[in-house]
Amino acid sequence: MNSIMEAVSKIRIIDGHEHIVTYETRRNENVDFFGLLHYLDSDMITAGMERGALERHHQRSDEEMAELFLNYWHRTSNTTYAKMLQCVAKDLYGLEKWDVKSLLEMNEQVRRKSADPTWYTTVLKERSGIDMTLTLQLPEVHTTNVDFELFRPVMFLDFTYKIRSLKDIEEIEKESKIDVHTFKDYLNAVDAILKRFVDEGMVATKLGHAYWRTLECGKPTLYEAETGFNRIRTSPIDEQAAPEQLRALQDYLIHFIIQRSIAYGMPIQIHTGHHETSPSGNGNVLTNSQVTGLIPLLHEYKEAKFVLLHSGFPYHQEYLSIAKNFPNVYTDLTWVYIISPTAAKQILHQMIEMVPQSKILGFGGDYIYVEGAYSHQKLMRNILSGVLVEKVGEGALSEEEAVQFAEKVLRHNLIDLYKLNV
Ligand SMILES: [Zn+2]
Repeated sequence: MNSIMEAVSKIRIIDGHEHIVTYETRRNENVDFFGLLHYLDSDMITAGMERGALERHHQRSDEEMAELFLNYWHRTSNTTYAKMLQCVAKDLYGLEKWDVKSLLEMNEQVRRKSADPTWYTTVLKERSGIDMTLTLQLPEVHTTNVDFELFRPVMFLDFTYKIRSLKDIEEIEKESKIDVHTFKDYLNAVDAILKRFVDEGMVATKLGHAYWRTLECGKPTLYEAETGFNRIRTSPIDEQAAPEQLRALQDYLIHFIIQRSIAYGMPIQIHTGHHETSPSGNGNVLTNSQVTGLIPLLHEYKEAKFVLLHSGFPYHQEYLSIAKNFPNVYTDLTWVYIISPTAAKQILHQMIEMVPQSKILGFGGDYIYVEGAYSHQKLMRNILSGVLVEKVGEGALSEEEAVQFAEKVLRHNLIDLYKLNV
């Protein structure tokens, strides 16, 4: 093996972004093979499968599930999402053939692993070389309760600024245990929730609003935000405020959450670029997540640490230009390698040429299951070492510089930014 590849293969990774469900959830849900599809499910939907067809509530037999799966597998097996499942099946479960019989065997194996309390440690620490993983539970689960041996929590805060009806305000009351009658009460309640998350071990906040509105954010006055808030607070359940009032309220709260994240020393992860089809009920309005929409916020909050997720793909040229100029922006390659290895390679090449290496966060698997983190890190290590070999070949980096770069972006930068004790 080439010496750069060997060095990269040995780096103990700090994984900057996953959505791995807690082991208890996995065991209770008795997750099987069809529960591991994750991203591939999206490609199958794009290839014509009915959304949710492979979910368990249809009461199909395992055999029927396997047949339905194979029907769409044949249509999608070329994509990197499919290759990732293939890698999991081969490396972690020894599956070579893709027929009903083999799938049923793997199904049983996955179920057994879902009941094995050592499986997470085996896959993450031993098979993937990942020392620590930043993980986000689903947006509707507001808990920092993770296994701190393996994980640190990052919290979705969308629920604090996606308020549209009385129900959403009641959710904040419940989480904060504060009665909310005025907008000031509401801000205090949101701050109390943030403070609680920090005390419980949160290492960063996450704003995922590009999935449900634009990243562009105005600068409404307190009065404008309060007007929208009061409209909702005084409405009967489920009656919504006017869109422009809601927009002012959301924009105000986005500013507030950034301000409070700064106060608590929390880096702010923001979704930019490509959307997953499954959770984006808004019909994949890609243009909502153009990274340039964030520029006014990047200008205003110089003391913030903005981690812009997913390299802004497919707006990665604008993204790189922004990262080159703003000291408060960190680039992040979460999810990018499996969206397109070719794009990831191109982005890495340009990142090395353009962005100070102290601001690059090289890996986040963005998977729900530990198996996905395994296959993704394997692909990432291949792509990263390939790019570094090319850079050394071009004479742009020495071999020593190339290895140091990899160590920084896969480990040291994340330890520094998220203040991790590992
Ligand atoms: Zn994510």
